[in-house]
Amino acid sequence: MENFEYDVQASRVIFGTGKRKKVLDELQNLGKKRALVISTPGREKLALEVKNLLGDCCAGIHAKAIQHVPIETVRESLKLVEDQGVDSLIAIGGGSSIGLAKAISLQTSLPILAIPTTYAGSEMTSVWGITENGQKTTGKNVIVKPKTVIYDPELTFTLSPHITVTSGMNAIAHCVEGLYAENANPIISLMAEEGIRSLFKSLPIILADPNDSDARSQALYGCWLGSTVLGAVGMALHHKLCHVLGGSYNLPHAETHTIILPYAIWYNANHVPEAIKIMARAFGCDEKDTAGALFEFTTSLGVRTSLAEIGMKEKDLDDAARLASKNPYYNPRPVDEQSIRQLLELAYKGTRPQQEVMNRQ
Ligand code: NAD
Repeated sequence: MENFEYDVQASRVIFGTGKRKKVLDELQNLGKKRALVISTPGREKLALEVKNLLGDCCAGIHAKAIQHVPIETVRESLKLVEDQGVDSLIAIGGGSSIGLAKAISLQTSLPILAIPTTYAGSEMTSVWGITENGQKTTGKNVIVKPKTVIYDPELTFTLSPHITVTSGMNAIAHCVEGLYAENANPIISLMAEEGIRSLFKSLPIILADPNDSDARSQALYGCWLGSTVLGAVGMALHHKLCHVLGGSYNLPHAETHTIILPYAIWYNANHVPEAIKIMARAFGCDEKDTAGALFEFTTSLGVRTSLAEIGMKEKDLDDAARLASKNPYYNPRPVDEQSIRQLLELAYKGTRPQQEVMNRQ
């Protein structure tokens, strides 16, 4: 057993079908009685349901969250918080709603109760982000980590099959990189393995029947585990590549994660034998073919599997390799421009990764 440190800020988690109805009890558990309900414009109906459940404990609905948390929205929200005497924030929705609540909490220290409705996984982390003049600044602060999270699988039934799969793959990516994180530890690795297994099992079932209640629960459970992993340990090459490709070439977030993950595993495979063993167990495949097995899994789910298909230009691959190897995150296999260029070439074409190919390098 290797030495490790385990440092996780506790959150209270309530999981189960219909559990959003506990929102008032949970707000009172936090000792609060005047919550602002935050959502994106698209989830306003849900915000209204929460408002009705809260009765007099609701200070109002703020359905103005948008992607990447623009500073203007944060300023407007802070004014509302002050004017309405708000003592707590309830974020219902995906990463954008939770992101706005975090930005408000960063300034006010107000506690957040999150009710996630997507698989993005912001709810279990202390990472915040705010965009000003087109530049997104991110940081970590335990203040912004939601104190209570209610996972109600019923709220995810409306996620389209395509978003379910790609966003579910994003959650698998949190688990995979958690297995070989610089600060990996045995508890988080248990969660990561269970998260991968849950998502591997549930995503194909949801694709066949988006209203399968058991599979929706299992997928959300896997995403909770993925979010916990993301909040507890550092990420590596896969996340760096996705940030570069999303930030510099405007590629779609969840689909980029879906496409890159098999190649990130391929790249690291020989340097992380223990993590590969766990992945193989969770994927149900041969240890020598974890990357290939994941590639086949995504192919079987009918999503796009090459960067070319989602708009990457071949002429940008050299530049992307340079950007991704500059200031790299920790990664178990050293990162160099030439090897990353090779990875990107495979991902661009959507070539099935073969672990033996890498072994010969
Ligand atoms: P989002 O919150 O913008 O939601 C995407 C769209 O889906 C919105 O229009 C929303 O109204 C809609 N939606 C939400 N729930 C739905 C449902 N159940 N059914 C149908 N439609 C639904 O996006 P997201 O993908 O949830 O989150 C992405 C954002 O989260 C990014 O900005 C990313 O940077 C951030 N993020 C942050 C962290 C962190 O730790 N801080 C972690 C992961 C993601």
